[in-house]
Amino acid sequence: MSQNITKKTMKNLNKTFHLYFEYNEFDSPDIKGSYENMDVSFLNKIAYARKTAGCAFKITSGYRSPAHNAKVGGVPSSSHTIGRACDIYAPTSRQKFLMLSALLDAGFNRIGVANNFIHVDDDPSKSEDVIWTY
Ligand SMILES: [Zn+2]
Repeated sequence: MSQNITKKTMKNLNKTFHLYFEYNEFDSPDIKGSYENMDVSFLNKIAYARKTAGCAFKITSGYRSPAHNAKVGGVPSSSHTIGRACDIYAPTSRQKFLMLSALLDAGFNRIGVANNFIHVDDDPSKSEDVIWTY
């Protein structure tokens, strides 16, 4: 069940999240405060992975409004538009290894590996147990 961030659901966000992230890192660049569209359980898993990986998770894309998603060439069905995906800057092979290990350990099973970032989502409408490249 998807649960967006509201005053009511905020309490379900683990303290770990606040150790490593600011809400606005997950904003769609065109809408301030749109991090509220992120799914709480997705963010808790990202925070867990960040803690396990022990390396910085620079979020290059979190929530995307449909307009911003179209602008950056995202597919219309992008998991970013439902707040259940993020891209993490990962330019080196070491960072990719640490992040992949930690994301798998956190329970993620949908991961895209690009030249300098890793996409991860837990979109329930899509295939599980897949890793792809760009
Ligand atoms: Zn992505």
